[in-house]
Parts: sequence; C-alpha cells; structure tokens
Amino acid sequence: MPIRNRFAELQDKLTAWRRDIHTHPELRFTETRTAGLVAKRLRSFGVDEVHEGFGKTGVVAVIRGRTDESGTVLGFRADMDALPITEATGLDYASQTPGIMHACGHDGHTTMLLGAAQYLAETRNFDGTVVLIFQPAEEGGGGARAMLKEGLIEKFGIDEFYGMHNWPGVEAGHFALREGPQMSAAGAFEITVRGKGGHGAMPHLAVDTTLAASQIVSALQSVVARNVDPLKSAIISVCGITSDTDTYNVIPDEVSLKGTTRYLDKEIGALIHERLPAIARSTAEAYGASARVRWLEGVPPTVNSPEGASHAAKAAEAVTGKPPLEIDPVMPAEDFSEMLEARHGAYIFIGNGPSADLHNPAYNFNDDILPAGASFFAELAESRMPVRD
Ligand SMILES: [Zn+2]
Ligand SMILES: [Zn+2]
Repeated sequence: MPIRNRFAELQDKLTAWRRDIHTHPELRFTETRTAGLVAKRLRSFGVDEVHEGFGKTGVVAVIRGRTDESGTVLGFRADMDALPITEATGLDYASQTPGIMHACGHDGHTTMLLGAAQYLAETRNFDGTVVLIFQPAEEGGGGARAMLKEGLIEKFGIDEFYGMHNWPGVEAGHFALREGPQMSAAGAFEITVRGKGGHGAMPHLAVDTTLAASQIVSALQSVVARNVDPLKSAIISVCGITSDTDTYNVIPDEVSLKGTTRYLDKEIGALIHERLPAIARSTAEAYGASARVRWLEGVPPTVNSPEGASHAAKAAEAVTGKPPLEIDPVMPAEDFSEMLEARHGAYIFIGNGPSADLHNPAYNFNDDILPAGASFFAELAESRMPVRD
C-alpha cells in the first residue's frame, strides 16, 4: 500500500489547511474557530463519531477499523492552541490576530492529524478503533487534564496514547524519540517573603525582605547541587522577583519570588517539593523574616513506555525508511504527559529542519513535513492493529 504517495497527493491541501489555521491563531480554551474547522472536516471525511466541546474547546472523533477482533483502541492526540507572542515571520499568511501566533507549531500538529483522519476514514485498513483527540490549551492551560476529567479514557475506552511534536534542529521529516522519560516535568512556585518595611537609610529598624529573598535565590541552587544525585537531572530557576514598593529608598514589607522546577524522575520531584520550602523558610528565618511557599499545578514528565516507543519507532521507520534518531531527554514539558501517565504509549518528535526555535517570534512550522507526520499516524494504526486475513 503506497501510503506515502497518498499523503504526497494531499500535500497542497494540507498546506492550505495549516496556513489557514496559522493565520487565525487562538489562545488556550478559546480555540472555537479551529475546533469548528476540525469538526467540519472530520464530518466531511465520514468518521464514525465527532464530539465537540470536549474539555471545553476540544474535539474527539472515532474511526472504526474494517474489523475489531483485537478490541484495541488507540488515542492519537494533537494540540490546537497558540501563544501570546507577536509574530515576526513576515509571511503572507502570518497571524491576523495581534499579539497571538502559532509559535509552537500546533497548527501543523492539528493538520497532520486531520490528514491521517481523512486517510484512515477512507481506508479503514486496521483491526480496532482510532480515537482522534484535538486538544485545547496545551500551553499552560491544562487542556489535557480538562479532557481526562471529562472522561476521555472511560468514554472511548482508550488503551494507548500517541502524540507528536515538531522539533527544530532535527532533519525535516525525520523522527526522534527515546524509551523512558523524553520530556521533563514542570512545576511552578511562588515564595512570599515577609519582613518589616522601613527606610532604606535606617535598615537596623527594618527586617530586610530583599536581603532574605536574595539569600533564598542563592540557597535554592544547593538543592540541585547538593541534594540531587549528580547523575540525575533537575532545574530550579527563579525567574522573577517583585516587591510591594517601586522606589529607591524603601525596604519593602513583602518580596515575592516566582520560578519553575524541572525533573525527569518523580522521586526528584518529591525531593524538590520537600527541600525548596524547607530552605525558603529557614533562610528567611535566619534573617528575621518569614517565607510562605505556594505550588501551582504542574505536569509530570513525559514518559514513553517500552512497548509504546517500539510501536512508534516501527511506524516512523516505515514512513522514512530509517529508524528514528535516539535522543537525550529535553527539559521543556508537555501536558500530553498526563495522558501517558494514565495509559501507556509514546510521544515522538518530527524534525522541523533548521527553523527558528519553538516559542520564538520568527518560528514557523515546516509544511514539507505534513505528509510524513500524517503518514506516521496512519502507519501506526495499520501496523499496531493489523487486519488479519
Ligand atoms: Zn509550546
Ligand atoms: Zn507545543
């Protein structure tokens, strides 16, 4: 079956779809135009079910194979949201919405999964069921969680999840993945340091929150340097310091620190959750101040199961004729990890070529890779759930 030829024929159509979504980017949980387009196209392909408004603005579709002796249900996921970035690509199809752009390539991910949906609905050359998941709000919005909460797994009986992200710097249209953790967990914290405000010229009458907060920033690095096993990975980055004053001569009453944590193993996450507040509190106390730590909801590491990684690698090799690149884990996070935590499977990268980086105002998804990405999902359905004659 010349699967790659079929997708090569679709190249122009897929490119037009992708550029249309690119021109009209939508932020987390407001992807109504994109979701509407997706649902309309899915219906025109003749898929068996389309569910709109799933997880607020998500879309879920079902395609049943020619047979269902295996009883296997695969969930293929793409994300649909854009970012609050002003586009600087100068493209004739650049964003028409000021301050919002598809700088992470989710326009391409949505299009690749639509391409696969059209092919799978036409051919149905697999034994089982494919559930297509068009997720909203991947960029820090908790879109995966919203869909899981609405019963994504239970309602559709999903056994395994597969997803894909484009990756700048990897050869265009080639695949990359690894077994085990592929992307980091992400956590966010806020530390509020309270002391006693006062005159900058009379520090002895104040409790200096800025000094205490600065010591906390330095001391937190000891968690990574001294508590975490040197052979494991962890990041604590304090990314913002703010106070309740905006002058040159007032010692603030309160100083806030904001930051992010990253790690690949859950045990390291637990260690950071224990050590970070302990250091913040005792350091503040050493300077006569106090510290309160608040954790914001994060996401777990993206972990590919051995079986999931092997099925994905096989499909990728069938598409390109080469085994996927074996890569080291990367420290950005991805909320598809929550789906992979609930059911096994894999997340695969597809090379975007030498493009600007993700989240950069000059970034653009590479339309040349649309056929390979769509082929991957089609191939995965057929090779993971072969029809028995
Ligand atoms: Zn992103
Ligand atoms: Zn992304």
